[in-house]
Amino acid sequence: MPLLSDLFEHGLLVETGIHGVYGRGPEFERVLLAFDDLVTRAAAADEPETLRFPPVVPRRQLEDAGFFNSFPHLVGTVFALQGDELHESATELALLPAACYPVYPAIAARGPLPRDGVTVDTGPAYVFRHEPSDDPGRLQSFHMRELVRLGAPETVQSWQRAWRDRALELLRGLGLEAEADVGADPFFGRTGKMLADSQRGQQLKFEILAPIEGPTAVASFNYHQEHFSSTYGIELEGGGGAHTACLGFGHERIVLALLRQHGLDVAVWPAEVRSELRL
Ligand code: ATP
Ligand code: ZN
Repeated sequence: MPLLSDLFEHGLLVETGIHGVYGRGPEFERVLLAFDDLVTRAAAADEPETLRFPPVVPRRQLEDAGFFNSFPHLVGTVFALQGDELHESATELALLPAACYPVYPAIAARGPLPRDGVTVDTGPAYVFRHEPSDDPGRLQSFHMRELVRLGAPETVQSWQRAWRDRALELLRGLGLEAEADVGADPFFGRTGKMLADSQRGQQLKFEILAPIEGPTAVASFNYHQEHFSSTYGIELEGGGGAHTACLGFGHERIVLALLRQHGLDVAVWPAEVRSELRL
């Protein structure tokens, strides 16, 4: 039986009739929350600042950050009926496509960064990407937990690499056959291919892959250099543009990889994995 039907059958996911939009049953949710707590424990040493944002953003923010240009195929915007007229029109909102977008303008608005920069924890944010698929690992609506680092270039770069290694260790500690690799974003169109090649060439993005139906990115590490700081004017304490990086865990993909690795009955998962997750 294909994995997705099996997940429905076991009540782990709940069908809605739309590809990539699923409800979560109690066991799936228990593992998802347990993994989220594990990330909280792993991130505690960074003493991140907690900032939570809703799953909608001002559309303008995504335009300014270049998301509409680079990923028009993934965007979801919010339309609403105008009073009692039966026609819909666009609101000023879009669906949040990655947890970190609202963080940059919010930090920029405070003025120059403190000396050691800033680390933000977005918590598990609901994000949307318009990429309908019957691959159980490719959802349209899912949770992304991001840590975001803003600071001097060397600080940000070494933070990104250190987290790639920490995250790899954390996922292997859960019995996953996880591997790190250089990655690229799914930029749109022909210029998109050039952007992706350049991102790969400069090793700006790393991914950790684990098997679901095939090798799937369960966590990603992006180094944006001065992209967001020049968009919003984020400055270092003594002047000069800050650099930024973020890492994102894809919570549903991680739960799916664990189910694929250890079986659909969480009660009989290996004791070490259950204890690591405090299940
Ligand atoms: P992919 O290359 O698989 O489309 P991505 O490189 O676009 O993923 P990011 O934008 O870096 O992914 O997002 C961070 C994390 O969010 C990914 O590592 C992954 O775990 C998760 N993620 C991304 N897209 C999806 C999706 N459609 N469904 C479920 N999880 C996703
Ligand atoms: Zn991000």
